[in-house]
Amino acid sequence: MGKTEKYDHMKLIREYAGNHKYLITLGRCLAAVSAVLTLIPYYELWKIIRIAVNGEDPDTIKGHALLAVGLIIGALLVYIAALLCTHIAAFRVQASMRSSLMRRILTLPLGVFDEDGTGKIRRIVNDSTAATETYIAHSLADKTVATVTPIGLIVLVFGFNWKIGLICVIPAIIGFACMMKMMGKDMQAKMKEYQDALETMSSEATEYVRGVPVVKTFGQTVHSFKRFKDCISGYCSWATQYTLMLRVPMAFFMTFINAIFAFIVIAAYVVTKNGIENADILNVMYYIIIMPLVTIALTKIAYSGEAEMNLIDALKRADKIMEIEPLSEGTSKKTPADCGIVLKDVSYRYKDAARDAVSNVTLSIRPGEHVAFVGPSGSGKTTLAELIVRFFDVTKGEILIGGVNVKDMPSSELMKQVSFVFQDSRLIKKSILDNVRMSRPDASEAEVLDALKKAQCMDIIEKLPDGIHTVIGEKGTYLSGGEQQRITIARAVLKDAPILILDEATAFADPDNETKVQAAFEELSKDKTLIMIAHRLSTVMNADRIFVMDDGKCTESGTHDELMKRDGLYKRMFDEYTRSIEWKVGA
Ligand code: ADP
Ligand code: MG
Repeated sequence: MGKTEKYDHMKLIREYAGNHKYLITLGRCLAAVSAVLTLIPYYELWKIIRIAVNGEDPDTIKGHALLAVGLIIGALLVYIAALLCTHIAAFRVQASMRSSLMRRILTLPLGVFDEDGTGKIRRIVNDSTAATETYIAHSLADKTVATVTPIGLIVLVFGFNWKIGLICVIPAIIGFACMMKMMGKDMQAKMKEYQDALETMSSEATEYVRGVPVVKTFGQTVHSFKRFKDCISGYCSWATQYTLMLRVPMAFFMTFINAIFAFIVIAAYVVTKNGIENADILNVMYYIIIMPLVTIALTKIAYSGEAEMNLIDALKRADKIMEIEPLSEGTSKKTPADCGIVLKDVSYRYKDAARDAVSNVTLSIRPGEHVAFVGPSGSGKTTLAELIVRFFDVTKGEILIGGVNVKDMPSSELMKQVSFVFQDSRLIKKSILDNVRMSRPDASEAEVLDALKKAQCMDIIEKLPDGIHTVIGEKGTYLSGGEQQRITIARAVLKDAPILILDEATAFADPDNETKVQAAFEELSKDKTLIMIAHRLSTVMNADRIFVMDDGKCTESGTHDELMKRDGLYKRMFDEYTRSIEWKVGA
């Protein structure tokens, strides 16, 4: 069922299950036994009907009835045992799937979390493993039952009166054919489209909610979220088309599997044409009872086919994470000679992008120099900074820190060299102490406090109920963007790495916060190589050197005064900036 592509999902599941794979096999065997046990009572039922029709001794009915009930209870118990086995195996599979995904995720380039979105990765880790767990725990036993039952049914249907059996089976066969058509080769692709659509809708919905303040502020209508609307409309038309596609085969399937009773009437007419005998009454009554089993069995097969497609889709999604190339771990024993940075002819192109985000950038930053990257939005400043800390590996060229290629450095060495505060540096839901300590887990509480002091965070700490032990995000302790950023700066202070990268760190407009952030930077960047990416040109004026990025290229470099004399992009930007300030003051 549903095996439209060669994809050995069971092999994969057994690998994940490890030693527990035998539990899967045991569970399936028990489910098969239970399926057989469920069918035997129908034979007892046949005997009971025979006693009744032939007017035999009614006392003998009791024995058959008890046996039937006993068998059913037995079947139920065996089925529970089967589910127990498959559940234990399912939990094991889910746990090992999650841990191998998480282990893999830890080796991935940090940039993947920008490129593919953390939401998407989280969805795969949660949902795909949960879908796999559900499949193994429930659907696998059901699938075994769905496979074994039809074999038993053949005996039950043809063993008593093959003529009636044959006539009654005709609609079942047609129904089955309709089902096969529904499950045809497009089905797996459709399942993927469905899951893709859910994924897009959930990420667009997040974007939508994030953008609500903008909409409210500028009084725009909901139609400004065109992408969200488009993906919903897209899903809507997909669902309609999918439903229409299934309408005919589904209608036939339902009609035929429910038409079995009508065929019993035909069968009864055929066998009683030449006079009614007791045996005929017996058989017709018996078939009335067992034929619904065929309907149930077919429905089960249909559902287990669908569950299997879901599973294959989930496993393939998990594979996608496993297929992302991990960042190679450098093995060079050379420690960087100093904290100077050299970029040689560096280019980078994002996955699936049409052009380079950074192209042929060559520049060198002396140890202890304070430099700034400036340029219009989208010119590649962030990308360049991220390449230095190896969020991704360069597509072309090389990046050296203290003479050592960052690719050759073990990641622990690279992280020892560089601290960074990026635009979206996050705090996690832990105490301030733990948050700051993340950069140096062995730091004492006094050291953390000192770092917070240097990062100008004391006013934040003072207003929190439990000081540095306050858990962020709990009991209404939310910090403003600027405050969060100061805490992430404290993190960088504590780490005390010789190279510091700050991205758009002063973009927060709150003036009080801005002064504090500025002061924190000055404290932080003493005796360090500093790369600063700032929107406010006033903050970069004092830099030793300014690199101007334009469309992925480094077009100018020099001090503020030098660049102002050159009358290039920097001067234009600076004039623009000065005008905007005058405009603000004037207003
Ligand atoms: P800046 O920081 O100067 O505003 P960025 O380095 O963020 O510029 O972006 C440079 C270019 O790379 C832009 O054209 C941007 O659209 C593209 N870009 C940035 N991040 C991604 C990403 N995660 N995936 C694809 N393209 C990206
Ligand atoms: Mg940027």
